[in-house]
Amino acid sequence: MLNSLRIVPLAFAACLFAPVACVQAPSVAPATTALEVRHVQPPDLSDAHLGKKMLCVRPMRHGAPRLCVEQVGDKVVAHDYGHGGSGWTLAPGSADYVNNLLINSPLAKDLRKDTPITVIGAGVIGLFSAYDLSQKGYTNITIVADRFDNLTSHNAGGLLAPVSMDNDPAMQPVIERIGLDAYRFYAQVARGEHPHFKSGALIVPSYFDDRKESGLEPYVGKVMQPAKDVTLDFGTGTTRRMVVYDDGIFMDTAVMMQSLTDWLKPRVKFVQRKVERLSDIDTRYIVDCAGLGAGALNGDKAVVPVQGHLIMLKDQQPKQLQYMILVYFGEAKTASGLKVKRSFYQFPKHLPGTAPNDVGVVGGTFIEGADMDMPNEDEFRIMLENARKFYGLKD
Ligand SMILES: Cc1cc2nc3c(=O)[nH]c(=O)nc-3n(C[C@H](O)[C@H](O)[C@H](O)COP(=O)(O)OP(=O)(O)OC[C@H]3O[C@@H](n4cnc5c(N)ncnc54)[C@H](O)[C@@H]3O)c2cc1C
Repeated sequence: MLNSLRIVPLAFAACLFAPVACVQAPSVAPATTALEVRHVQPPDLSDAHLGKKMLCVRPMRHGAPRLCVEQVGDKVVAHDYGHGGSGWTLAPGSADYVNNLLINSPLAKDLRKDTPITVIGAGVIGLFSAYDLSQKGYTNITIVADRFDNLTSHNAGGLLAPVSMDNDPAMQPVIERIGLDAYRFYAQVARGEHPHFKSGALIVPSYFDDRKESGLEPYVGKVMQPAKDVTLDFGTGTTRRMVVYDDGIFMDTAVMMQSLTDWLKPRVKFVQRKVERLSDIDTRYIVDCAGLGAGALNGDKAVVPVQGHLIMLKDQQPKQLQYMILVYFGEAKTASGLKVKRSFYQFPKHLPGTAPNDVGVVGGTFIEGADMDMPNEDEFRIMLENARKFYGLKD
């Protein structure tokens, strides 16, 4: 499993700690390899086509997301938090895994289908947790959260890839199992075969520098086809040799958050309030999906913020942008002196309520230790410069 916070691809080693951003020179495949050449249209990255800038923070837990059940005072608490840059990739599988731990726990002998259960958190982890409990027949669920809108879960990019976590190798089999379950869930949505959700996921080609970097190799042969080596021709004079998984999954995060909320609204109670201590909750059973907030709630020092920058695109040609790209550039320092791992990614994200052609998002940065009070504004500019260089576009 790839840990993008630690592993720096060798090809980019020269970029390590470079004072300014650097993008690897375009690679032109040697003529003898006869790779498939794909013509991929870049988005319009001119200033007039840039939309909302979004800053958000990944809830990263060193060692692995916390997926377990424990007794805290008179409460039985199932923890499901700390998924780093892969919360969307894991959410449906993680909900099923943790809820099963709870249901089968010796601590939960008196848990009945109508027993009140409180889910803390209304991000993707909390919503999938409530959805999964409801699917398992539990009828008395309350979601408590201090915020419901403009969460990291709405703003996130949307690539299904188990990357940018920091997992103990002992947890890898669990993470892989959860990831496979999640892939199956989203693929069902994307194919129009899901009984409840018809939008919010797409099957699109996903391009990476190499197979290892994608984190998707454990999925090949189980739910995905092998990747292919291809040459991308952007029509700008720039070509790049990449690998592609043609059955990659894009999760349209804000759209899926809306669909989940709409499905849950008639079935689950929503209460807006900040939980200061787990003992404040008046039900015995709690599912803790508080993301970054779970650090303070549990005194869990392994939980850290990892900041990310994104820019929405507008007035594009959506049909030409039905693909995803993720490449890493190595590490550098922000103007504020923090270590930043820079990457470029682009996904066909759409925000509900915006014009149909306002499609596409460009990211991304990984700045551990930076929260919303430390915006590192320069990173938006650097990210855009890197994106334009990647495609060979003029500024
Ligand atoms: C820039 C960026 C790009 C990303 N791209 C991807 C991607 O392409 N693919 C992918 O799989 N993942 C991606 N992620 C990661 C993913 O977005 C997160 O892992 C996921 O959204 C975390 O969900 P969550 O529900 O744990 O947290 P959140 O969305 O932060 O929700 C936490 C919830 O808990 C509530 N809460 C917290 N503390 C309390 C408290 N004390 N009392 C009451 N309520 C509380 C909050 O109000 C909120 O409702 C990205 C993240 C970032 C920042």
